[in-house]
Amino acid sequence: MPAQTHLFLCLTDNYGVLLHDRETGATAAIDAPEAGPIEAALTATGWRLSDILVTHHHGDHTAGIPELKRLQRCRVVAPRGEAGRIPQVDKTVGEGDTVRVGVLAAHVIDTPGHTAGHISYFFPAEQLVFVGDTLFSIGCGRVIEGDPQMMWNSLVKLRNLPDDTRIYCGHEYTAANIRFARTIEPNNEALAARARQVDQLVAAHKATIPATIGAEKAANPFLRADVPEVAQSVGLGGSPAWKVFAEIRARKNRF
Ligand code: ZN
Ligand code: FE
Repeated sequence: MPAQTHLFLCLTDNYGVLLHDRETGATAAIDAPEAGPIEAALTATGWRLSDILVTHHHGDHTAGIPELKRLQRCRVVAPRGEAGRIPQVDKTVGEGDTVRVGVLAAHVIDTPGHTAGHISYFFPAEQLVFVGDTLFSIGCGRVIEGDPQMMWNSLVKLRNLPDDTRIYCGHEYTAANIRFARTIEPNNEALAARARQVDQLVAAHKATIPATIGAEKAANPFLRADVPEVAQSVGLGGSPAWKVFAEIRARKNRF
């Protein structure tokens, strides 16, 4: 039986998402930006929270944990390297570990760079990946605790997942990311098509995610730092991909 997901906004531009296993009734919240919208989502779906899967320690991904823990018995799963900075952790995980939500199984992927211990949760049978603030649609997270080479390596790991994997990220930044991406690849047809699609979604007040790995590979400049035309467009033809990535990230920070 396929897993179900339920997506909703938290805070100003954070996404909350629930993942539900129909067979056992188990339900995970991926990150906990704030308790209220997660409780409302649980009420709306009728699902009972069994797990919180945390991607990284930032407050806009963890602030809801204490209240959710107070209201329901649930297990908090968190990255091993950041457990000390996340409230009420029950289980710590890292690269290669398996996390189960009912019968649904996630492979943990270390994706450091935004924070030093950031992890992503890949559910191969469900073709879903929860990437926190590592990868956004047509963008990526700021490199805060790591360095550009580390972040590029993390993005390549996500890029290597199957093309039809659906990506759930931590924020709705897609429209702004597209405006920047078009300065890097003004002639990228896949990016232009994504821009038209996102215009329609925004006009209809709809979420622009989930994206897919295949679509992001074609249009997200941060996943394309090893494409020769992208390197040339930032004046770094022939440079290592991580240096091209670093330049694109620096330009986005100034954009
Ligand atoms: Zn963050
Ligand atoms: Fe965030």
